[in-house]
Amino acid sequence: MRKPLVVANWKMNGDFASNEALYAALRAGLDASVSNAVDIAICPPFPYLGHSTAWLTDTPIRLGAQNVAATSNGAFTGEVSASMLADVGCHWVIIGHSERRSMYGETDADVAAKLSLALASQLSVIACVGETLQENEAGQTEAVLARQLDALVSTFAKAPAIMCVVAYEPVWAIGTGRSATPEQAQAVHCFIRAYLAGKGVSQADEIRILYGGSVKPANALSLMSMPDIDGALVGGASLVADDFLSICRASAVA
Ligand code: PEP
Repeated sequence: MRKPLVVANWKMNGDFASNEALYAALRAGLDASVSNAVDIAICPPFPYLGHSTAWLTDTPIRLGAQNVAATSNGAFTGEVSASMLADVGCHWVIIGHSERRSMYGETDADVAAKLSLALASQLSVIACVGETLQENEAGQTEAVLARQLDALVSTFAKAPAIMCVVAYEPVWAIGTGRSATPEQAQAVHCFIRAYLAGKGVSQADEIRILYGGSVKPANALSLMSMPDIDGALVGGASLVADDFLSICRASAVA
C-alpha cells in the first residue's frame, strides 16, 4: 500500500510576508483526516528554508528543497549541498526538474550524482522525468523516460523505497494548464513502474510515482484515482492555499 504524497513546488516565487501568509493558511486549513492519509511536502526557494522549519513546527508537513548541488561541500560558489539541506531541516529534495534540465543544462549524469549525494545525507528524493511535446509527438516518450530512469535505477535498487519517489512530469503539461488525461498518465506510470522492476529495482511496487503538470482542484481527483498515480507534484496551484489543500483532500479520498 503506497501512501499518497503531495508536494508543493513553489519555484522562484514568494517573499517573506506572502510565504508566512501561505503557511498560516495551510496550517489553518489542514485537517488531521487529510494529513493522516497523505504525506505532504512544501519546497520553497532556498532562502526561506530556514524560516520554513519554524513555520512548519508542529505540523505534519515536511520541508523540501527544489534543487541540490551535484557535489559535496567545497569551492562551488552559489551551490547548496545535500548535507546543508539536511542540516537546515529538509526531508525531501527535488532533482531533475525539467526547468533545471532545459534552462540550466542539468544532465542525466548530474541527476545521478545528486541522487547519490542526497540519499547519503539522508534526504528523500523526488526525481523528475518527462518528455517534451516534440518528443511526445514523435512517439519517443518511453525512450526518453527509459534514458532518464537509467540514471536512477542502480541507486534506487540499493535504497529504501520510502526515500525514492519518481515524478512523471510531461514537459508539455507543466505550467500550461494542459494536463495529461488520467488514462495517459496512468499508462506512463505503469510503464515507469515496470521499467524500474525490469532494471532490478526489486521494490518498484513500493516506490511512489507522482504525476505533475497542471494539477488543479478540478482534475486532481480523477488523476489521483488512477492505480499507479501515487500523488502529485504541484507548481502553480501550490501557491494558492485553498487549491493546494483541495488537491491534498482529493489525494486523501482517491
Ligand atoms: C512543476 O513545475 O513541477 C509543475 C508541475 O508545475 P504546474 O503544476 O504549474 O504545471
